[in-house]
Amino acid sequence: MTARGQPTPSPQDRDCFRSAENPGIAERVAEIKAALPLSDAIARIAGIRLEPSGSGVKACCPFHRESTPSFFVDDSTGRYKCFGSGCGVSGDVLQFIREWYSADFAEALRLATELAYLPQPQMGRNQVSGSAVADRAAWRSVIQNKSNMNPSLRPAAEFLRPVPENIALPRPGRRFTIDDPVRQRTIQMVPTHVHEYRSVDGSLLCVVLRSNARDGRKFFIQAGWNDKSGNPGWSLVRFPRDVARPVYGLFDFPDWASRGGGGILLVDGEKTRDAAASLLPHQRTGVLSISAMGGGAAVRLADWSSLKVAFQNFQRDHQSPIDFLIWPDADKPATGRNGIAIDRQLRFALDAAGSVANSLQKVGYLFRASQILPPTGVPGGWDLADALGQGWTTKVALSHLERFRVPLIGFDDKVRTPSQSEFGMRIDSELHSLRQEDSSDHAVSS
Ligand SMILES: [Zn+2]
Repeated sequence: MTARGQPTPSPQDRDCFRSAENPGIAERVAEIKAALPLSDAIARIAGIRLEPSGSGVKACCPFHRESTPSFFVDDSTGRYKCFGSGCGVSGDVLQFIREWYSADFAEALRLATELAYLPQPQMGRNQVSGSAVADRAAWRSVIQNKSNMNPSLRPAAEFLRPVPENIALPRPGRRFTIDDPVRQRTIQMVPTHVHEYRSVDGSLLCVVLRSNARDGRKFFIQAGWNDKSGNPGWSLVRFPRDVARPVYGLFDFPDWASRGGGGILLVDGEKTRDAAASLLPHQRTGVLSISAMGGGAAVRLADWSSLKVAFQNFQRDHQSPIDFLIWPDADKPATGRNGIAIDRQLRFALDAAGSVANSLQKVGYLFRASQILPPTGVPGGWDLADALGQGWTTKVALSHLERFRVPLIGFDDKVRTPSQSEFGMRIDSELHSLRQEDSSDHAVSS
């Protein structure tokens, strides 16, 4: 990169735009830039915090050491530039990725596509959601992204007071009364489903009640135990922004662990998790089924530190990786800004994998994340509860898990099924290099 700047685009990139072998590349670049703000991409890739400055944002330059920010990003033009003496890096999102990862144009395009949650072009393996195969660079950025996300979330157990042992629990089909302390009213409802959120030690943190409104639409209420007012009782729970939500299904963790553990299956929503646990009982399959409160969009807000704590107390071989299987609902792509399709299944999977990676790497566990694809031809929103209703058996569900999993940690096309030890070494070295980068980052900022 030259200090004089203005490499828009480089000659090689121009050739690439014009190449007859790559029709639509310019359109793809435009799509990426419309869907992925440059400051967001740089914050996620480099793991830096950018502060407002004039019409754009600024930060200490990720490419040279400095204590006063001279690296400027303008989202309106989609360009960055460092004014530090002797540095002078500048460019667009693809230039940044090429520089950061020493990637070629094709790699940068693939990673930028992944970061923008756009489907990868010309990939036949996963027709539903484009390619879910993230390469090493994408994986690294996912981990860094999540590592920087919501660093101040408090564990759910600090916010929720456990429900006393001898209290009657709400039951499906029975009238239930909840106090709403904020609006100073009482809510009466007849839940169709009651989901108990218990921590690993079995204590009841809260319940999620599902019911149907008059217009037929389902709604959810979170109820916990309130004894602060001197008038103890069930009370509506509103989670503050800085509190993580408990993970559903962890009450099975001790029994699952005592049997030697196995894979962890994350699905979208409590009802689907109960169906998963019914189809794939952990006692027989070694699969622990869990879900995040609030469904897909809230997977980042889940209290993954509780999974970390569970694993800390789980005497298990650290060298064999844990299979983390993420099975999103069969949601069709959403239409984002500027009419661009967003692969919601892949987004859910990456959010979940990144969040859990962030928790488990801290306790030294290796794990491999995979996205499970839905059967072809199912309607939008199809999930394991539907599968249960369609007569799926444990055998069918297990077979589907084996056959329709796409690794979220990239291997090149020739290495589809690496041995466990080979896998473990690769991820181990990846995490090791991440830790080293973390510590060198601290050295720069101090
Ligand atoms: Zn610089």
